[in-house]
Amino acid sequence: MPEVPSPQEGTLPILLGDPAQLRALTARWRCEGARIGLVPTMGALHQGHLSLVEAARAECQKVIVSIFVNPRQFGPGEDFASYPRRPERDRERLHQSGVDAIYMPTVDSIYPAAFATSVRVDLEGLRRFEGAARPGHFQGVATVVAKLFCVVGPCLAFFGEKDAQQVALVRRLAADLDGGVEVRECPTVREADGLAMSSRNEYLGEGERRYALGLSRWLRAGQRLFAAGERDAEVYRRLAPATVGPAPGVTLEYADVVDPSDFSSVAMVDRGSRMMIAVRVGRVRLIDTALVGAAAAP
Ligand code: AMP
Repeated sequence: MPEVPSPQEGTLPILLGDPAQLRALTARWRCEGARIGLVPTMGALHQGHLSLVEAARAECQKVIVSIFVNPRQFGPGEDFASYPRRPERDRERLHQSGVDAIYMPTVDSIYPAAFATSVRVDLEGLRRFEGAARPGHFQGVATVVAKLFCVVGPCLAFFGEKDAQQVALVRRLAADLDGGVEVRECPTVREADGLAMSSRNEYLGEGERRYALGLSRWLRAGQRLFAAGERDAEVYRRLAPATVGPAPGVTLEYADVVDPSDFSSVAMVDRGSRMMIAVRVGRVRLIDTALVGAAAAP
C-alpha cells in the first residue's frame, strides 16, 4: 500500500499528489468509520468554493478538496493555459477552512501518456447551452469526475448549482456507476452586487466587471416578472439583450428559461423553472443561473 503523507504539523491538511495515495487515505478513513466529503475544484478558490467545503464539513467527518485544472474540459482556443492558478493561496485558504486533505495531482498522474478512456454521459439536456457552446467540455468533466469517484470511493460529493448542467451530469454519472457516491448541490455564492463568484472574475477589468453584472440583473428581472404574474417565457427571453447590453465587447450567448429536469425550453414559466444565461465580456465567458421563485435567487 502506498504511504500516505501525514499532516505536516498539527492541523495542516494532508497534501496528496497522486491517485494511489488518495485511495489509501480514503480507504483508511472509511475503516475508521468516517463519512467522506469530496469537493472537486479547479482552484483559484473563492468564497463559493469555500461554501461547498462548509457544507461538506457539516455532513462529513473527513473532507477532501481536489484542485486540478483539467485540460480535457477546455476546448482549443479556451483559457486552459491562462486559467488562474493560485496553489499557495488555495492551500492557505483550505488550511483556514479546516479541510483534512488536499489532492493536487499533476496532469501526468491523471492522464499518463497511454491514457485512452473517455466517459460520456448521454443526457439530452447536456447537448444544449454549455454542451453546445463548448464541444467536448462535458466529456472532459465526466472523465475526470469518474476518475475522482473511483479513487475516493463511497462519499458525498459537493457541487455548485451555478454549473447546473454539470450537476445534472454528475448526478447521472454517480447513479450510473454504482460507486456509492451521493451528490449534493449547493447554492451560488455572490458578491454583494449580485455577480456570481467565479475564478474567471479575476480576468475582468474594472469596466468589464460592470458589464458582468448584466447576468444577475437578468436573473433578478426574471424574478420580478414572475412576482408580477408574467408567465410567458418569451417575455423573459426578450428582456435579456437589453438587460446585458448593448456594450462594447459584450455578447449575449444564450438566455433561456428551461425545465430544470431536462433543460428543455419552456413556453410557460412556473415556480422552479430555471433561468440560464451565458455572456461573453471581452475575453471572459461567464454563466449564471437561478430557479424562478426560489428564496435564494439573486
Ligand atoms: P470550479 O473550480 O469553477 O470548477 O468550481 C468547483 C465547484 O465550485 C463546482 O461545483 C462549481 O459549481 C462550484 N462553484 C463555483 N462557483 C461557485 C459559487 N459562486 N457558489 C457556489 N459554488 C460555486
